[in-house]
Amino acid sequence: MVKNIAVIRGDGIGPEIVGEAIRVLDRVAELYGHTFNYTDVDMGGCAIDKWGDPLPAEMLKKCVESDSVLLGAVGGDKWNNVPGNMRPEKGLLRLRAGMEVYSNNRPAKIWPQLAEASPLRKEIVDKGIDFIIVRELIGGIYFGEHRTDEVGGEQVATDVLKYSESEIERIARIGFETARKRRKKLCSVEKSNVLDSSRLWKKTVHRLAEEYPDVELSDMLVDNCAMQIVKNPAQFDVIVTENMFGDILSDEASMITGSIGMIPSSSLGATSCGLYEPIHGSAPDIAGQDKANPIGTILSAAMMLRYSFDMPKEADAIENAVSRYLDEGWRTADIMSEGKTLVGCRKCGELIISNIRKD
Ligand code: NAD
Repeated sequence: MVKNIAVIRGDGIGPEIVGEAIRVLDRVAELYGHTFNYTDVDMGGCAIDKWGDPLPAEMLKKCVESDSVLLGAVGGDKWNNVPGNMRPEKGLLRLRAGMEVYSNNRPAKIWPQLAEASPLRKEIVDKGIDFIIVRELIGGIYFGEHRTDEVGGEQVATDVLKYSESEIERIARIGFETARKRRKKLCSVEKSNVLDSSRLWKKTVHRLAEEYPDVELSDMLVDNCAMQIVKNPAQFDVIVTENMFGDILSDEASMITGSIGMIPSSSLGATSCGLYEPIHGSAPDIAGQDKANPIGTILSAAMMLRYSFDMPKEADAIENAVSRYLDEGWRTADIMSEGKTLVGCRKCGELIISNIRKD
């Protein structure tokens, strides 16, 4: 297969971690007989420096026209004082909007080799943590009307939480499709004992379930879900939920797995063209020092193969290589522990590549 990938290296550690992810993709292409073509896209601080704009229109066009986008990270102190609409992060928001990605997907997976980094008790971690949160990204209370009025001599603030059936249906579909590519269990999270928007959510998800008889659907109230994620995370495969609930639950879920440098994410819309990026930022404190952990970006590339390019074996090959690398005892500084061998970003990439096998 031939795939065209738009590559945003961005700022800080971005160029280093993306460089390793591309080397991993090239090895996979070589082993499995694919061709990946890369188009460099300027976004963030580096685009402000070069073009005076965090995401010039022609750069966005390159992303929209690609088969998918791989992003490192953007931002840094240097651009803290530029006007609000010209900040590096604005490029990211414009990219998400321009690509119309309405679903953010964040896995929470504990690598058994890093189990001690989890704040959860060992007996909970030992049951395994491997689930994914599918969060609605461009609707709900964050996008509803926000207003503050003067009423009866005091200020009254209002934020509107609104969802249409079609908005719920399209995100639920991503939930079902994601579950289909995993262990086929979908948990729909809402607050239907209180909110109308949640009652519509639940009804719509259940209507759609008839199209996915192979996926086992369950419902959970969001407050219970927040507890279950720390009490018994092994029960989850895929969680689908609305924007604000997903925002909070996905941060909770990433905390229980240990290092921020290990976690990938994807954002998807109506087409298979997705945006793939690690969940961390540009880490200016370690930029250019060959200290960054590239695994979050490498696993984002694996997600791109699985969810946008329908290459599950190739995605498995990358994930298995990361697992073997950890088994061998190599660690970047962020996940270093006693008895392990410290490596830099470049060496980490090299060792993962040496562990990629066509299983
Ligand atoms: P950060 O995630 O960049 O860094 C937080 C801490 O984690 C730092 O100590 C950093 O060294 C460490 N860290 C992060 N990623 C790592 C990796 N791969 N390997 C090893 N250590 C890693 O968050 P921050 O410091 O709050 O933000 C720095 C800049 O990144 C800011 O300008 C912020 O706006 C931006 N940011 C960008 C994105 C994005 O591009 N999606 C997301 C979050 C923050």
